[in-house]
Amino acid sequence: MKIARFSTGAELRYGIVDGLPADEAVPCGESAGRLLALKGDPFYTAPEATGEAIALTEVRLVSPVIPRSKVVGIGKNYAAHAAEMGTAAPPEPIVFIKPNTAVIGPDTPIVLPEWSDEVHYEAELAVVIKSVVKNASPLQAAAAILGYTVANDVTARDCQRADETWTRAKAFDTSCPLGPWIEIPEPGADGPGFDPASAVVRARVDGRIVQEGTTADMIHPVPELIAYVSRVFTLLPGDVVLTGTPAGVGEIRAGQRVAVEVEGIGSISNPVVTS
Ligand code: MG
Repeated sequence: MKIARFSTGAELRYGIVDGLPADEAVPCGESAGRLLALKGDPFYTAPEATGEAIALTEVRLVSPVIPRSKVVGIGKNYAAHAAEMGTAAPPEPIVFIKPNTAVIGPDTPIVLPEWSDEVHYEAELAVVIKSVVKNASPLQAAAAILGYTVANDVTARDCQRADETWTRAKAFDTSCPLGPWIEIPEPGADGPGFDPASAVVRARVDGRIVQEGTTADMIHPVPELIAYVSRVFTLLPGDVVLTGTPAGVGEIRAGQRVAVEVEGIGSISNPVVTS
């Protein structure tokens, strides 16, 4: 089940994405799908349809969640990406924070900061948390996951190299496109549903594939990552954990459009502008 957050005017609502074509990775806005509007907030109540159905082309999708407390990023969770950064993979996950002011939804511009000359895309699987997690085992951590979405961990690479911490490089406004919706795996007769351990992750710049990898190559798989993070921070409902990027990161420039995609979830596309 895919749950999106959307606006048809001033009000933001949630809806179940229905009727997508077989290729689910179509950019939002070009899809034949529709939204089945939901009552309330699916983070706190079971999804209940209002009976209203709205074409995806008639709505503006927004980030499916604005975390109340934090987006947690994980650095160098793919050996090939650590190698392209000129380092070995670290023995333990590198943890950093992106504040909720970094989060944007589909089609919202990524604003390049004027203090950076080298901003990169990083296509990533993102995990959405549904319940409080602290000092969890991997099994407990897995049980606290609501679902998955797609993130672009936009990074000011020159500042990441130059600064003592990654804060400026990773946490600036608009540096965390999230969406287009949350995929909630539904085990059924035809299989376990979306599998975060074997999903293809991709980035495109102006339609050209520039990064492609699989979550099967993660050094620390999702339940271990969430368990590790929960020993550093208490994770709250609506918090998001980015799981690291595969090899193939590269620069984005003003005037381009960057899309990141996880097969089985969807694609989020954003224009790039100068400040
Ligand atoms: Mg990253």
